[in-house]
Amino acid sequence: MNAKILFPVCGRTARLPEHLVQETLRAATPHGAADEADVERNLWCHLQIHDDGDHFALVLDLAGVDTGAVWARWAGGKPVEALDIRPDCSFVNPETREICCEFAFHSGAHTHQLTYTPVEFSTPTKASVS
Ligand SMILES: [Zn+2]
Ligand SMILES: [Zn+2]
Repeated sequence: MNAKILFPVCGRTARLPEHLVQETLRAATPHGAADEADVERNLWCHLQIHDDGDHFALVLDLAGVDTGAVWARWAGGKPVEALDIRPDCSFVNPETREICCEFAFHSGAHTHQLTYTPVEFSTPTKASVS
């Protein structure tokens, strides 16, 4: 039996506006040219489910070692307005050596403690506005 406790991921979805796609590409340029196709436009919050605070979604991994990644940040019910370049979380699961896929000093549990449910982009739910 596996006694590991898993926490549900927030998974709040949002769409990356086109001007932030361009801003992501500009931010990535010093680290090596990024392909526009690699920019994630269908965003979903990677954090453990949370009551308050901003949502964070991975937009683009920056090339190179210890360069971090571009994250989109938005408040619940609001469009995505801001991008942050954040270093990667340095946590490594001591049992599996699995690295955490979130950013440094994120709130909530690390990736390996989260449980993911499939995210649907084609059928947005009107009931989840908050
Ligand atoms: Zn969230
Ligand atoms: Zn982590």
